[in-house]
Amino acid sequence: MNKINRRKFVYSVAGVTVMSSLGFAANNSKEIKLKGKESSLIKHWDVITIGNLSRNRYWGESYEKPLRGAICTCTVISGEQFHLLVDPSLEDLNSMATELDRRTGLAIDEIDTVFITHQHGDHLYGLKHFVKAKWYAGAEVAAAINKSGKYEKQIEPAGKTLFGEIDVIKTFGHTPDHYGLRFDHNGYSVMIAGDSVATLDYWNGGQMYYNVMDMTESTRTLDMIRSIADIIVPGHDNYFLNLK
Ligand SMILES: [Zn+2]
Repeated sequence: MNKINRRKFVYSVAGVTVMSSLGFAANNSKEIKLKGKESSLIKHWDVITIGNLSRNRYWGESYEKPLRGAICTCTVISGEQFHLLVDPSLEDLNSMATELDRRTGLAIDEIDTVFITHQHGDHLYGLKHFVKAKWYAGAEVAAAINKSGKYEKQIEPAGKTLFGEIDVIKTFGHTPDHYGLRFDHNGYSVMIAGDSVATLDYWNGGQMYYNVMDMTESTRTLDMIRSIADIIVPGHDNYFLNLK
């Protein structure tokens, strides 16, 4: 565990703009412990699409009906030997290819692995584009999607890690069988939380999104994520820092 103070942490991860938007005073120097390892096979990671919700109580909206289309946050994790895409978000092939290129310079066929956090449709919209990749999900999620018969290609059950470097972690609650990914990058522990964390507002408010299947399990998952992650990639928002 390496230690840096909070001010340095915020500067180094997200820059001054995020620091001021989070409301930190310039002389705030509370020490925090980073949870990640310095050494890691992960070379780079990028958010491809920043997701949004179909309705958002933090925007004063009711849960009664969708007010807009939702897409999920989609991320690519790259190592020397792999490009892993998590939660392919865009139904339209050209849009998916454009966003992937814009954010990473990669073509669709250069993605060799796809991981799906859970079986909700908005986290699979773009799966069909990645025919050359291996498809993985947590065992229960893989079984459910395969059983649906929607895809000719099988989703394989992921073990405890991907590439021996990325932890596959149970993040149950939003659905009974949801999995997230955790990895180390430059000393930070990064958690791709899928819908176990909806957005930054829901995280800060300790609130679950309306379509959570098990509230108790979901709260347990949030506490677990809080204890292991420095940076959180939620299911429907940009990534943010865990400073608690
Ligand atoms: Zn979901």
